[in-house]
Amino acid sequence: MNSIIKPLSVIGLLLCAYTVTSQETLDFVPEVYTSSEPTCVFYQGEFNGLISIPRSQSIVSKMASSGSCSNFIVTYNGFTPEAEAAFQFAVDIWSTSIISSQPIRVAAEFSPLAPGVLGSAGSNSAFTSNNPNAVPNVFYARALWEKIEDMESDAFGGVTTDINASFSSTANWYYGLDANPPANQIDFVSVVLHELGHGLGFFGGASVDGTGEGEIRFNNVPIIYDTFIENGTDDAILSFTDPSVALGDQLTGNDLFCNSAIAIGQNGNVSPRMFAPGTWNQGSSYSHWNEATFNGTINSLMTPQIGPGEANHNPGPITLGLFEQMGWSICGGTLTVEEFDLASVNVSPNPFMSAITIKITNGFSNDYNLELIDINGRLVLNESKTAVNGEITLSNLDRLTNALYFLKLTDTTSGQSITKKIVKN
Ligand SMILES: [Zn+2]
Repeated sequence: MNSIIKPLSVIGLLLCAYTVTSQETLDFVPEVYTSSEPTCVFYQGEFNGLISIPRSQSIVSKMASSGSCSNFIVTYNGFTPEAEAAFQFAVDIWSTSIISSQPIRVAAEFSPLAPGVLGSAGSNSAFTSNNPNAVPNVFYARALWEKIEDMESDAFGGVTTDINASFSSTANWYYGLDANPPANQIDFVSVVLHELGHGLGFFGGASVDGTGEGEIRFNNVPIIYDTFIENGTDDAILSFTDPSVALGDQLTGNDLFCNSAIAIGQNGNVSPRMFAPGTWNQGSSYSHWNEATFNGTINSLMTPQIGPGEANHNPGPITLGLFEQMGWSICGGTLTVEEFDLASVNVSPNPFMSAITIKITNGFSNDYNLELIDINGRLVLNESKTAVNGEITLSNLDRLTNALYFLKLTDTTSGQSITKKIVKN
């Protein structure tokens, strides 16, 4: 594993001499995770058309009323005023998405990076926790650890930065805040939002070396993210010998999924696919959602590439679902899977002839987007509707060919969606 060097930092050496500066104390010495490899090296992708995923309505209202749920403190180095303003906009989206009692300290650099690299970021180390709300013997990204422990982690070596992030000062950036970059520019807000997502905990410990040997644990300890990854036959990634070539094969088998129940609930009861291409790509593989599955969707933020003309200002329901499962609390309340899952949505009649009625048991009068997709993946109907006491009617369906269809219902406020099979006859 010579290509992946994960030295114990000086932080570890200072652990036995730490002092706690806040009024809180910790009668527990955490294990410390450090890595010399950035969690993410975010590359510019190809132009895939103009794609604009705006902020959710609830984030727009919270930002307008300063209704933040966490406090980010950013140290800017080398930023232009417009880059700093766009960065702050991305920070405000996260601070109205997740809850922490502790300040989240970000060190942000704006400087030339390698060609094609837009940015890179990671948590400044990670710690284990013996808190009753934490899983024992797994590492938590520093900002998440502080949230769970309800205290700062400065004590460990005197370092205060939670997230380190670097952004290219030479990329062709779009600094607008409206999620509408032109076809030749990269949306800076989206890239910052993505990198902060990694810093908040969207990363695992996996790597594969030149001999095909895969490794996940650091000092025999995995990261909380690793505990939610499994392959297509439900074998946990942590069940494979670590390190081993068999594990390397799993990490490069294009068959990894997230088994977080909340993320699955946010993905129409389908396990979200992870990016696990046949060739290991350090900084892209494993710690992203699959590009091909989620490109252009509300869940595209944490995919490994972003093209010019593409913007996503929504952390995305599956990312927030995984975050909630990992220990974050979601600003505005829990992602209530029960209120909007397959069991709570009833479509009748099914089979149908000319009309269907969709009943959502929460009874809310929310706005929904309805898409009807045929078995060849073609979109045959796309309508926006407002539910009346949880009920929506779709009529004039006579023109459809008799066949099986997938009805995808998306709550346009929360971004949650579910898909039902329906039959026309
Ligand atoms: Zn990334």
